[in-house]
Amino acid sequence: MSDAVNFDALDVAAEAEVVVVGGGPGGLCAAVAAAEEGADTLLIERYGFLGGMATAGLVNPFMTWMAGGQPIIRGLFERITQRLDDYGGWGGPKQPSAFDDELFKFVAEDLCEEAGVRLQLHTMLADVEVADGRVQRIATLSKSGLRQVCGELFIDGTGDGDLAAWAGAEVKIGREEDGHCQPMTLCFRMMNVDLDRMPSRAEINALYDAAKERGEIDNPRENVLKFFTTHDREVHFNTTRVVMHDATNAEDMTDAELVGRRQVRQMVRFLRDEVAGFEEAWLEEMAPQIGIRESRRVMGDHVLSVDEVLEARKFDDGIARGSYGVDIHNPAGTGTDIRHLPPGEAYDIPYRCITPRGFDNMLIAARCISCDHAAHSSMRVMPIVMAIGEAAGCAAQMALEGGDVRGVDTQALRGKLVGRGASIYGLSEE
Ligand SMILES: Cc1cc2nc3c(=O)[nH]c(=O)nc-3n(C[C@H](O)[C@H](O)[C@H](O)COP(=O)(O)OP(=O)(O)OC[C@H]3O[C@@H](n4cnc5c(N)ncnc54)[C@H](O)[C@@H]3O)c2cc1C
Repeated sequence: MSDAVNFDALDVAAEAEVVVVGGGPGGLCAAVAAAEEGADTLLIERYGFLGGMATAGLVNPFMTWMAGGQPIIRGLFERITQRLDDYGGWGGPKQPSAFDDELFKFVAEDLCEEAGVRLQLHTMLADVEVADGRVQRIATLSKSGLRQVCGELFIDGTGDGDLAAWAGAEVKIGREEDGHCQPMTLCFRMMNVDLDRMPSRAEINALYDAAKERGEIDNPRENVLKFFTTHDREVHFNTTRVVMHDATNAEDMTDAELVGRRQVRQMVRFLRDEVAGFEEAWLEEMAPQIGIRESRRVMGDHVLSVDEVLEARKFDDGIARGSYGVDIHNPAGTGTDIRHLPPGEAYDIPYRCITPRGFDNMLIAARCISCDHAAHSSMRVMPIVMAIGEAAGCAAQMALEGGDVRGVDTQALRGKLVGRGASIYGLSEE
C-alpha cells in the first residue's frame, strides 16, 4: 500500500503456508478447505469472531443454492447448514433458509478447530509487501501493535479486496458509469412481534409510503424488506439504505453507520406506532457493522460478465456455481433491478476469476472476485461465496508445490472439489 511500514523492523507474529485474511463466508471456507487438504493455514480476522456479513452484518437468510430443484452448491456450505442444524440453528417455520447468526459463530470455530486452522482474531491487515509479482509478507495491526506475518500463498477474504488492492492489484469499484456501489444496509431485528397480527406486505408498504410522505422516514428504499428468522416472535429487517458511500473510505463508513442508525430509529418508531403486531415489540439488535454489498472487485484472468451470468454460461475451469439472479439495489436512490437466469439453470464461476492479474501467489476467496458490477450482484450471496472460498482453499494447497496459482491443474482441482462433496457442472451426479 505504501512505503510507510518498515517490514524488517516488525516482529514476526506468525508464519504459515497459506495465510487467509478475512474470516467471512469466503475466507472461512477457504481456510477450512486449505487446512483440510493439508496446508498449514492461518486465518486473520479483524473482529473477535468469524462470519463476516453472516454475523457482523446480521445478514440472513442464505439466498438460493438450488437450480431445477437440485442443490448446485454443496460441499462446505452443506456441512455448515448441517452443523447449524445440529445446534438447532437452521431453518425457521416461516423461513426455511434462515440461520441463527450466534450459532454460526460456534460452527465457524468448530470447523476451523477440527481442520487445524490457526486463528488470529482482533487483527487487521495493515500493509502488504510485494516483490516480483509475489506477496512477500503482510503487516498486521492488533493490540500487540504492528507485526508481520509470513506465508507462501495469500488469500484475500476481506470482501473489500484490501489485500489485493494494497498489494497493487488492478481493482474496479462500483458501476461502470459513475463508480457508485450498491447501497449499504444496517440490518436490525425486532423481538416480541405478534406475527399472527402482522399485516400483509402490501399493507405494510402502504403505511411505509404514507410515513415517508409525512417526512417521518428518510430512506430512499422503495419498500420494507423483512424476513422471518429461526426464532418465534422475531422479524429481521434488511431495509435501511445508505447510498453513495464508499466502503473503502473511513469517513464514508463513519457517516454510513450514523445514517443507518438514524434510519433504524425512524423504522422502529414507525413499526411500533403504525404496524399491527409491533406494539409491544422492541429493537432487539442492530448489526455490529453496517452491511456492505459491494466495494472493490479485483481484476483477474477472466472477468465474469452479467451476460455470462444470465446465459448460465459454463466454463472448462468452473470451480463454483450460482443460480441467484441479478439483484442491484439502486446505488444512487430508489428501486431495485432484478433479473433472473433461465429457470432451472446455473452458471459457472471460472478459476480465472480468483487469480488476480500480475500475482503468482495470491487468490481471491470473497465477493471481490473478478467480475463486472451486475455479475457481482449475483455472485455476492453467501452460498456462492462459500463455494468460491472452498475452491480457493483447495487451489492454494495445490499451488504450494509449484508456488504459482497459474500452475494449478484446474481439472484436478475440479475433481478434488467433487471428492469433497462440492457440486461441479459436468462432473457431479445430479
Ligand atoms: C445488507 C446485506 C444483505 C444481504 N443479503 C443477503 C442475503 O439475504 N442472503 C445472502 O446469501 N447474501 C446476502 N448478502 C450478501 C452476503 O452477505 C455477502 O456478499 C457475503 O457475506 C460476502 O462474503 P465475503 O466473505 O466475501 O465478505 P464478508 O462477509 O464481508 O467478510 C469479510 C471478512 O473479512 C474481514 N475483514 C475485512 N477487511 C479486513 C482487514 N483489512 N483485515 C482483517 N479482516 C478484514 C471482515 O471483518 C469479515 O469478517 C447481503 C449483504 C448485505 C450487505
